[in-house]
Amino acid sequence: MKKQILLNPGPVNLSERVRKALLQPDLCHREAEFVDLQNSIRSNLLDIYQMSHIQWAAILLTGSGTAAVEAMLTSMIPDDGHVLIIENGVYGERMSRMAEIHHIKHTALRHAWNEEINLEQLKAALQQNDISHVAVVHHETTTGRLNNLSEIANICKKKNIPLLVDGVSSFGAEQINFTDWNIGACAATANKCLHGVPGTAFVIVRRDLINQANVTSRTLYLNLKDYLKQQDANGTPFTQSVQCFYALAEALIEFKEEGWQTRQKKYKQRMKIVRDGLTSLGIQPLLNEKECSCVLNAFHLPKGMTYEQLHDTLKENGFIIYAGQGGLAKTIFRVSCMGDITEKDMQRFVSVIRGL
Ligand SMILES: *Cc1c(COP(=O)(O)O)cnc(C)c1O
Repeated sequence: MKKQILLNPGPVNLSERVRKALLQPDLCHREAEFVDLQNSIRSNLLDIYQMSHIQWAAILLTGSGTAAVEAMLTSMIPDDGHVLIIENGVYGERMSRMAEIHHIKHTALRHAWNEEINLEQLKAALQQNDISHVAVVHHETTTGRLNNLSEIANICKKKNIPLLVDGVSSFGAEQINFTDWNIGACAATANKCLHGVPGTAFVIVRRDLINQANVTSRTLYLNLKDYLKQQDANGTPFTQSVQCFYALAEALIEFKEEGWQTRQKKYKQRMKIVRDGLTSLGIQPLLNEKECSCVLNAFHLPKGMTYEQLHDTLKENGFIIYAGQGGLAKTIFRVSCMGDITEKDMQRFVSVIRGL
């Protein structure tokens, strides 16, 4: 297959060094070499946002981002807890579905998919209910909106309510103030802003909160307390995706050489090329620039063109874009700029669209 430039929100194009890391020797997950690998990933994940290794822990799972989010919700909210779930897209709504499936007491704060989170409604919802946790998506990949986490956090902090954050598509590229924002846990994955391969996901947890959470196990496989205990003791409850761990370890070394601010800058530069380029062609972004993440922007489909036509033409030229979901499927397309790609790729992308 010819190389494709992936402009979908994960998995992303790998750097050669990350791809090569997959070829390291076969390894048993009960051996000392695996312990070193696991420990280095856990430690490097905390270092991305310079977090205290005493107060925080990174817990590694084999699965996609959704597994990490589900593990976070099922492990952090105690039996007598009540989570307020903020919805303004697919991923917020997915968290409500998880709470429903696991019989976790929850209240949804619903918004339309392109709406900003309404802080007055948030305050009212916290006043009306006895809420123990607020769950929120940081970057709602449905629309490309970067939710106003610092303002949400300010409101929740006053009531000492910790945030449970779906940071799957923001971790590593957007600012996350774990302590200031009173974050209790944040779920993310290897194959978005960290540029690893799909198969490994993780949850960053505040140790005191997970230890306090009195949960009668809701799931066997996604029980984070169990993972934490065993990973702290240099073990793992189940077989991990060893080769994906190799790739993530290498991706984190690569990441460390630049840090999240540089990664963000790169994404912003790439996105600017796309946004300016498409706007100049009369293709309108869904949201204002200041509302958007640096990771992904959504655009209205060019006039007279279906998503399939646009997708297929771009694919012939080596670019993979992403469709809108649900009610947006027929009206928008999405462009992400994660992964080992270049500004030149983005310029060529715009010029292919210009030639349509
Ligand atoms: C990608 C994504 C997920 C998880 O998706 P998976 O397909 O399970 O990896 C969850 N939340 C957000 C915000 C995402 O962008």
